[in-house]
Amino acid sequence: MGLDIKQLYKTFTLKELRKGLGVTGRQLFRKKTTIMYPEEKTPKSPRFRGLHALRRYPNGEERCIACKLCEAVCPALAITIDSEEREDGTRRTTRYDIDLFKCVYCGFCEEACPVDSIVMTDIHEFHMEENDERVINKKQLLEIGDQYEPEIAAARKQDSAYR
Ligand code: SF4
Ligand code: SF4
Repeated sequence: MGLDIKQLYKTFTLKELRKGLGVTGRQLFRKKTTIMYPEEKTPKSPRFRGLHALRRYPNGEERCIACKLCEAVCPALAITIDSEEREDGTRRTTRYDIDLFKCVYCGFCEEACPVDSIVMTDIHEFHMEENDERVINKKQLLEIGDQYEPEIAAARKQDSAYR
């Protein structure tokens, strides 16, 4: 077993330690990337796939025409729709449920919708406290759509060149 001069040199001159401190020192003067969430938030893409919403037209009429394309395309079988014909001959949903535990937030429902009715908002801060709260119904989806319509419309406008 020979004497490792190189290792001894490294040990006595604290080379590794100085090297490490050098890395730390350089980082001290770099722009900070830490975000103090939830007070600070990072920008989100207009394509962010968060909580769902059902949209209405400006005259208040719901966009959804109960074609069920979203239900058919959903890979997680998370959407359940019932529908009926109205007196004016148009078709509307009587039930529109999304099981948020089944949903994999793939965005297929949004892409399949011919009238831009079911959309995914950028809301990602939501939770459930009871098991039955995992299913979000038509009334709740429309309420989210009504509340966040300006943000939803702005995100679509921003992304319109790519749609
Ligand atoms: S985001 Fe995907 S998994 Fe979720 S409801 Fe839409 S199609 Fe289904
Ligand atoms: S949300 Fe869109 S795709 Fe789904 S049933 Fe309504 S119109 Fe059809």
